[in-house]
Amino acid sequence: MRRKLIAGNWKMNLHRAEASDLARHVVQATTDLSDVDVLLCPPSVYLQCVGEVLLGSKVLLGGQNAYFELAGAFTGEVSPSMLVDLGCSHVILGHSERRWILGETSTDVSKKAQAALAKDLVPIICLGESLEQREAGLTLSIIEQQLLESCAGLTDPQLRRSVIAYEPIWAIGTGKVATPEQAQEAHAALRKIVRNVYNPQVADGVRILYGGSVKASNARDLLDRPDIDGALVGGASLVAESFIAIALAATNKP
Ligand code: PEP
Repeated sequence: MRRKLIAGNWKMNLHRAEASDLARHVVQATTDLSDVDVLLCPPSVYLQCVGEVLLGSKVLLGGQNAYFELAGAFTGEVSPSMLVDLGCSHVILGHSERRWILGETSTDVSKKAQAALAKDLVPIICLGESLEQREAGLTLSIIEQQLLESCAGLTDPQLRRSVIAYEPIWAIGTGKVATPEQAQEAHAALRKIVRNVYNPQVADGVRILYGGSVKASNARDLLDRPDIDGALVGGASLVAESFIAIALAATNKP
């Protein structure tokens, strides 16, 4: 059975005191949750102060991006080992905002995933189709291509440790959530590709998160689907009550 993961992607939001405060609320409200992993991904400049709040708690810390080189003349970039140094266990890679606004490619994502795994950082590999691609009936072929290219070069155990996030672009920050049926269909298709290209153990072990306008009100319906192993949450992760409610929706408790 795959353990659910609820990850908050704070993107380029909040300032230091707000970030620490939000992290404190999440820690307090999730201490008793034993069957779900909770992860906070603040802006990189606040990893240190949020990490200090999380110290000694079960809440995990993650970066929003990392470069594929480990050190050197790469102005503005952050390396996987720097994230590990600050206490990160995870890193989001290939978020659609990075792919579409900053021109990141699936090849970049695969290099970043390999570099992250080499430093024991779990990559959360994001992929998803645009509205035009969905309307043209291309969803499954687009996400298959993104998955295979973004995970190129990963060994079976590396992919099993990784997390995949299915995030239809049309659902990110728009309030338009994929229906549980649409999300389940995409997740099942991704798992089937992993089964065929890698093997059944990898397919059964890899966690596939859904992302795109997840809120307290729709989380349970999405998380109840068999191939949805958690959520990558943007907007709703910036408000303690809504993020905590999503984490609670992921527990097995009635
Ligand atoms: C995201 O940025 O990964 C995301 C899913 O954002 P939102 O929840 O705001 O749609």
